[in-house]
Amino acid sequence: MAPTEILTRKHLGHGLHIPEHKEETNRLPIRRMPFAPLLVVPLSQHAGAPAIPIVREGQEVGRGEPIAKAGGFVSVPMHSPVTGRITKIALAPSARGDLSLAIYIAPYQSASQEILYGAPQDIERMTPAEIVQAVQDTGVVGLGGAAFPTHVKLKVPEGKQVDTVVVNGCECEPYLTTDHRVMVEQPGEVVHGARVAMRALGAAKAVIGVEDNKLDAVGALWNAIAGATDISVQAVPAKYPQGAEKMLVKVLLGREIPSRGLPADVGLAVFNVATLAQIGELLPRHQGLIERVVTITGPGVRKPGNYLVALGTPLRWALAQAECTEHISSVILGGPMMGASVGSLDVPITKGVTGILVLTNKEVNGHSRIYPCIHCAACVDACPMLLNPSRLGMLARKERYEEMETDYHLMDCFECACCSYVCPSHIPLVQYFRIAKQMNRENQARERQAQGTREKAKA
Ligand code: SF4
Ligand code: SF4
Repeated sequence: MAPTEILTRKHLGHGLHIPEHKEETNRLPIRRMPFAPLLVVPLSQHAGAPAIPIVREGQEVGRGEPIAKAGGFVSVPMHSPVTGRITKIALAPSARGDLSLAIYIAPYQSASQEILYGAPQDIERMTPAEIVQAVQDTGVVGLGGAAFPTHVKLKVPEGKQVDTVVVNGCECEPYLTTDHRVMVEQPGEVVHGARVAMRALGAAKAVIGVEDNKLDAVGALWNAIAGATDISVQAVPAKYPQGAEKMLVKVLLGREIPSRGLPADVGLAVFNVATLAQIGELLPRHQGLIERVVTITGPGVRKPGNYLVALGTPLRWALAQAECTEHISSVILGGPMMGASVGSLDVPITKGVTGILVLTNKEVNGHSRIYPCIHCAACVDACPMLLNPSRLGMLARKERYEEMETDYHLMDCFECACCSYVCPSHIPLVQYFRIAKQMNRENQARERQAQGTREKAKA
């Protein structure tokens, strides 16, 4: 196989062709955003256990210095994004709408902001277990939005084997161009990160999947591979949600991740390109993740762009740098399909924030009225998981949440929002499904607790 195949004819069944809105930012180089006067670094900005602070109020910290340790294996440490002083460790608003513990840091305005932490390490001499530990030390999590600790995915599950690393460079969400710019500007780091993942997992090859609306990124990666035959780049036709793990794996390799299964069940491990670029950059220097690229865009922004933002930067500051208009109606973290709107501009930018989409009254006041289902089946045709969103929606309205899971595969829904997007009745199907999953999670937790109490009583 050639190291790069451009424009394979494979494509995702179902899914949607939706307006991309990427032209506003996809040619704009990544530029650094100035530091905010106060950074707010949450201890829980990843999936798993929160990090545990190792600093105290009033302490001076250097840029890149560890400020919190991992709270377990499924957890990562935090590093100071600036040289400055810890002003307090206190609750801060989070994107979920609740309050969570965070470390507040005031940068020193006159400091050089040089990173003095870390030391070169030779990855070639490290064992897979040492690589897993070193990646955990970097604090890197899935930068495509999931924020799942990356080192956990680098450990092959018991009884499984991983033969191929899949690198996800699709970035199919409208408006977002973070991954695109990372692939164009840091292709060497992406390839290096892929090699680290291959080494840790014992995988013989890697394949990088990129949508064909980013051929400049395909070219950059191709050059970075430099003739190697164990890594290939494949351009796949752009279609939403091509970047979903299950979709990409099927299109690239023809493998199907089973319902409620993991990529390792079919010999794969999947990583986002920006995640691997950070590993490729930080690991050889043994440094921590302190910033990330964020696309700030949308009709409510005068200076859209791909900004390199210090973690902990409050949204209010970031939006001021991008010169938001006065008519903001909604601020969405992530893209318009899978992102979530935030209720407070005091929420800080965390490791999982891929983009900030700013909408004005004009876009938001579109369709507020919900009409009855007319059984047109547009949602069924759109669903990439071959679910029946219309039926699931009907059950959700009747609060028959358990049945949705046991009989209609609710947990296979990865909330891509294709069904909501096409519904002529404007039924907020994906919101119904999120609520249903949450209700089931709560009921199952209650059931487990009751079971534990019963067993204790018997003992
Ligand atoms: S949100 Fe869920 S049900 Fe709706 S199209 Fe996407 S996967 Fe299917
Ligand atoms: S798209 Fe909307 S109206 Fe059509 S079947 Fe699905 S839920 Fe009903």
